Amino acid sequence: MSRVLDLARPEIRALEPYSHAAWQPHLERLHANEMPWRAQGDNSVAGLNRYPEPQPAELIARLAQLYDVAPEQVLAGRGSDEAIDLLVRAFCRAGTDGVLICPPTFGMYAVAASIQGATIERVPLPTAAGFALDRDRVLAACSPNVKLLFLCSPNNPTGSLIDSADIEALCASLAESAVVVVDEAYVEFSGRPSCVQLLPRYPNLVVLRTLSKAYALAGARIGALVASPDIVSLLRRIIPPYALPSPAVEAALTLLQPPQLAFAAARIETVLSERRRLAERLGRLPQIERVWPSAANFLLVECRNPDQILDAARSAHLIVRDVRRQPQLERCVRISVGTPEQNDRLIAAIAAVDGDAR
Ligand code: PMP
Repeated sequence: MSRVLDLARPEIRALEPYSHAAWQPHLERLHANEMPWRAQGDNSVAGLNRYPEPQPAELIARLAQLYDVAPEQVLAGRGSDEAIDLLVRAFCRAGTDGVLICPPTFGMYAVAASIQGATIERVPLPTAAGFALDRDRVLAACSPNVKLLFLCSPNNPTGSLIDSADIEALCASLAESAVVVVDEAYVEFSGRPSCVQLLPRYPNLVVLRTLSKAYALAGARIGALVASPDIVSLLRRIIPPYALPSPAVEAALTLLQPPQLAFAAARIETVLSERRRLAERLGRLPQIERVWPSAANFLLVECRNPDQILDAARSAHLIVRDVRRQPQLERCVRISVGTPEQNDRLIAAIAAVDGDAR
């Protein structure tokens, strides 16, 4: 067992997990207080009258294959959101321990920390450096009570990447004091290799992946935490016993077959070419001050008058994300890359706005 578990809350390490009904599919189930018949019209594979398999072996095997790791390194949860929540609950003692985040970034890290009563250190990504991570400032801010460092690459909402040399240096420097969580929700759009390849070298590294983005399964709510088997087995003790609904698991298994994966790969290519086109077209409009380079399936766009852009999108029956509440993004909106038709409609709507109006 690696030393990384010494960083977890002692009461979680000592916890006697809930003992769920044993998963023994070769036996008929009279041990989980379920109805013995299906609901009328239930055509699901497993039967919705039955509790689902806690960490479904077939799904875990498929995710492990997808991410090129061993099944013991994968925890499946309800989106990567659940993994973020579990990490904070397992590693941060309320009122004592904390997380470090690099804003502007994905909001759930701070929300999960606040729910847990963990402290939040913030080291902004400097705008002047194209939102590149300031590794030395991050290290300097990692006081001993920072137990989780959340790094998002590609980062939401800036679309920027973190160098893997920085990730490695942070993992090495924090080996005894913190877990480095690299959220790769959008990595499939980046053309970069995943940090999962660094896992054998850094026991304090955790990588978050999801089926919600590149695999087009946001509605199924399936995410994966990929880490050392020690961290995975710790978190398996605290994830709710039947976290993944069987229809979602069945859908994911059907939709992660080789033909569907090839289709997803082609769709990613389409998103990348639309991302280039949208960035180029928006960048030429007088209403747009700057389109930030993006390694994800969205663009961060700085506008002369953000309200006008939000209104223009709505007038074309489109909604883009108002991110002005985030530090350094006072005049920005975030635009998800849509279909070519949606992108055209958005470009036309913004182009119709008077560029000189402030
Ligand atoms: N991480 C990042 C960076 C995200 O942008 C999102 C969703 N917007 C998530 C995690 C959560 O995704 P999910 O729970 O669907 O896996």
